[in-house]
Amino acid sequence: MGKSGRSPRQTVHASTVLSTNGLEKKAISGCYFGRNPKQQQPVVAARQTPVVLGNGALPLTISGIRQLTPRIRAYELRHVDGELLPSYRAGAHIRVPIALPDGSVTSRIYSLTDAPDDQDYYRIAVLRVDDGEGGSSALHDSWEIGTRINIEAPENYFPLHDDERPTLLIAGGIGITPIKAMAETLVARGTAFQLHYTGRAPQDMPFVKDLQRRFSDRCRFYFSQAQNPNRLDIPDILSKASADTFIYVCGPTRLIDKVRQTARQLGIADERVQFESFI
Ligand SMILES: Cc1cc2nc3c(=O)[nH]c(=O)nc-3n(C[C@H](O)[C@H](O)[C@H](O)COP(=O)(O)OP(=O)(O)OC[C@H]3O[C@@H](n4cnc5c(N)ncnc54)[C@H](O)[C@@H]3O)c2cc1C
Repeated sequence: MGKSGRSPRQTVHASTVLSTNGLEKKAISGCYFGRNPKQQQPVVAARQTPVVLGNGALPLTISGIRQLTPRIRAYELRHVDGELLPSYRAGAHIRVPIALPDGSVTSRIYSLTDAPDDQDYYRIAVLRVDDGEGGSSALHDSWEIGTRINIEAPENYFPLHDDERPTLLIAGGIGITPIKAMAETLVARGTAFQLHYTGRAPQDMPFVKDLQRRFSDRCRFYFSQAQNPNRLDIPDILSKASADTFIYVCGPTRLIDKVRQTARQLGIADERVQFESFI
């Protein structure tokens, strides 16, 4: 998985019987993140005492859920006692425990999607992968407002440089998650950047409207399956980057490979090309 090593899956059998199968759920509709958790209306109600998953030192509760696309949901997590959360830098991720339908508990890694300027919450966005081992679909099916998990502090294998050198951000699909946090950080810092975000169609790509609204002059969007498809021309954008530009790419393997291969052909040093794969 390139420079960002994916740690092995951790699936253990729960010592207590998990109640996720027995929970009665209502459909998620219109639950938005808010800065004040008291203003949020739970839209999914559990009828049993929630089981706390995970052994990490950080006790969190799910405080917001938002449907970003048909297959991607964003989750907001807060400390159960309202305490400040450990800080992190753009590119960081958290490992979260997930109850599988057979009663075992597994874990998966998710990038933090927001600039680290608020220690009140963490936000992640999770793509439902239906043909997988079931981690993401179990998370979608079992996480609800009030779900309790214990995790460790964020880790970061994909850190953003912290000086003023210009930045080229390239994201494919769900790979936008750490890249969005980077874009927000660079804006706050006043560092020049360009974001190129590619996917099938706008309705399948999270944060498109948000990014268009906030950074329209610095973002380009590419839709491979829209009525008028437009494709990202990697050799073109890389060849136009100045000699001190840092390049960050996250997305499908072929996108990452193409960026790295093109960079090499153009004589761009490997250290200037940082990448993270989710697979
Ligand atoms: C550093 C890091 C950060 C990550 N951040 C995110 C994130 O922000 N959001 C997110 O949704 N996932 C993220 N992931 C992926 C996540 O950890 C899980 O792998 C993913 O949710 C799929 O788990 P699963 O058990 O459902 O399917 P798996 O059994 O893990 O995968 C099933 C199949 O889908 C492929 N696959 C796995 N992940 C993806 C994907 N994201 N897109 C397309 N195909 C995939 C696998 O190669 C496999 O063939 C990240 C992974 C890493 C290592």
